[in-house]
Amino acid sequence: MTCSSMVGGSWGLYSQSHMMDYAFRDYSRSIEAEGGLPVLVPVVEKPETVRATLELVDGLILTGGPDISPRCYGEEPIVGIGEVDYSLDLMELEAAREAEKRGIPILGICRGIQTIAVAFGGTLYQDIPTQVRSGLDHVQKADKSVNTHRVTIAKSSKLFQIVEKETLWVNSKHHQAVKTLPPDFVATAKASDGIIEAIEKPGNSFLLGLQWHPEGTWAQDEGSRKLFSALVAEAKK
Ligand code: MN
Repeated sequence: MTCSSMVGGSWGLYSQSHMMDYAFRDYSRSIEAEGGLPVLVPVVEKPETVRATLELVDGLILTGGPDISPRCYGEEPIVGIGEVDYSLDLMELEAAREAEKRGIPILGICRGIQTIAVAFGGTLYQDIPTQVRSGLDHVQKADKSVNTHRVTIAKSSKLFQIVEKETLWVNSKHHQAVKTLPPDFVATAKASDGIIEAIEKPGNSFLLGLQWHPEGTWAQDEGSRKLFSALVAEAKK
């Protein structure tokens, strides 16, 4: 699973102002619970390091994190965009493309669905409240363990095969979303306001993106557990 970065400082002077790479424990616990071996992919600098790291793993989770720089899809930033980390963008876009090339299963979560979209030629809404104004709250104040809005899932999708439900309640911690799909991808879940909540590449590959955070609810939600279970099963093939 890919890390995000933050500036150290909370544990004392030794870490102050030094960059740290981290991934929330929810991700490793949900992989571990399904019999997988979680491995962190740090925010390394060189594309060849990313590629070499991916030789060591059987699956890739593109995790949540800050906004993707709109430069990555050819746009200037609009007022309303959040923090970006261009080093993280470059690492994760390389990881997504390399994993796809290698046929490694990919699960993109929150920022991860956006990473997948951008990596393969799609674009994003930089800020849903500014650009869509739907009224549905995608930035819930409730904890990630609480599901707050519904999504409708396409019956023809791999996502439906995994969760076996046409409607799911999901959590929502995003102010960006996929605007245009990459070629060869389909939207497989949408919120009631039309916001794309899941995408996948049809065919034999396992290349799924989810706008919600199943790692936040895996402990109590069967639909969330099934997603990690499916990823681990695919990685073991
Ligand atoms: Mn949402």
